[in-house]
Amino acid sequence: MNLPKTADVIVVGSGITGAATAAAAAARGANVVLLEKEVGPAREGSGRAQGSLRVQGRHAAEFPLAQEALQLWTEAAEEGDFEMVTGGNLYFRTSEKELPVLQGLVKEAHKSGLTNVRLLDAEQTREIMPCATGPFLGAMWSPIDAQCQPEKGTAHFVGRAQRNGAHVAFGVKVTRLLESCGRISGVETTEGRIQAGAVVVAAGVWTPHLVATVGLKVPIMPVVMSELETEELKPLFAQTIRAFGFGARQRPNGKVVVSAGLNAKVAHGISLADFNGLRYWLPRGMSFRENLKVSLDVPRILQQIRHLSTFSTALVPQESPEPKCDRPLVRDSLDRLSNVIPAIRGARATRYWGGLVDMTPDGLPIIDGGAGPLGLTIITGLAGHGLALGPVLGEIASDLSLDAHTHRALESFRLARYTDGPIHRPAMMI
Ligand SMILES: Cc1cc2nc3c(=O)[nH]c(=O)nc-3n(C[C@H](O)[C@H](O)[C@H](O)COP(=O)(O)OP(=O)(O)OC[C@H]3O[C@@H](n4cnc5c(N)ncnc54)[C@H](O)[C@@H]3O)c2cc1C
Repeated sequence: MNLPKTADVIVVGSGITGAATAAAAAARGANVVLLEKEVGPAREGSGRAQGSLRVQGRHAAEFPLAQEALQLWTEAAEEGDFEMVTGGNLYFRTSEKELPVLQGLVKEAHKSGLTNVRLLDAEQTREIMPCATGPFLGAMWSPIDAQCQPEKGTAHFVGRAQRNGAHVAFGVKVTRLLESCGRISGVETTEGRIQAGAVVVAAGVWTPHLVATVGLKVPIMPVVMSELETEELKPLFAQTIRAFGFGARQRPNGKVVVSAGLNAKVAHGISLADFNGLRYWLPRGMSFRENLKVSLDVPRILQQIRHLSTFSTALVPQESPEPKCDRPLVRDSLDRLSNVIPAIRGARATRYWGGLVDMTPDGLPIIDGGAGPLGLTIITGLAGHGLALGPVLGEIASDLSLDAHTHRALESFRLARYTDGPIHRPAMMI
């Protein structure tokens, strides 16, 4: 493979974060190399997402990033088609006990300037979504949220990176970060070494393995989220839906993508790696035990024993196997969705899939340009809502790599927060 020997910026991972980073840094004239272990872009988290580009319903620290990211997604949609629709987002409420959660989310949104987020009764909701003729109590409405087809959206940013002059290489696994005198000096890959003064690790759930090669500990728990897609249905709704136990969006081709929604149940295979972060995960696992389905990942444990390591990059698969979808969970979500939108009842599921997400102990991402050797930027821990943030994360990583500074507030996302003081417990599992 004809890989460049040097670059200004090396980006690891062609998910939305890496793709947007390569596009942004190359747009500024930097010599960029984007390296991806899989045979194409968006084969992990980014290609398996539901596709909701949600601004509200987040931690306050994420609001400014989500707003800027939505603007960047909107601008990108003018350059190419990735099924971008700005239809707003509805959080359905089907029981009284869900009301305080939604009231809390509205309050948070208003504090951050999202004053168009509001609570609706059932009648007002039906004015926005006439097909919601089933029983429910009301909804939280945000008119600015959007959606897109995640693989196409990510591929769009990879294409933009290439058009801006970045060198994009698939099938190349980065096996080690190289460091010299406290500065990053490049990477070692399955195809040889590349030198660079700036490296961005946007490697999703595999980030802890790669940054461990320069001595950094990043607490990530990989968990599987599940989705299904129905056959093509007549056009019913243009909003994204998020609710307790179900979430959905309808693609322009009529297919409805269904997830388990707010506070979904996720699956985790326990391995020896879990003992490294027991102090983070035990409290979180206990308080969200209803939402966590655990099993013993025996093949992974055997691999870890064979390599005498839990974070060696030898444990990072060159081509990741398909994570197991929890079909009963998403079928149940389709059922719940059909209660609210009866026109969907009986729709045949034509595709099921699962995807790994990088969960952090406090539910906030890790976005840090100062945690390791100079020139290293890490972006991970985006959990179930990182697709929406992707384009702004690219701008941030590009700024940190080329200027060692960004004007966005990143204090809440520093890696050191896990060692500095008490860890904030998130309100939801995912
Ligand atoms: C089922 C599901 C539904 C979701 N729904 C939504 C949604 O509706 N809205 C939303 O905003 N978010 C959603 N998400 C979350 C979102 O998909 C992720 O937060 C986001 O895609 C993360 O992007 P990323 O680029 O950081 O990581 P990824 O997309 O995981 O990309 C990381 C890339 O790095 C590569 N890589 C790793 N290690 C190496 C290495 N050593 N060398 C070379 N390459 C490497 C991987 O192969 C991968 O391609 C969902 C996720 C899942 C799984």
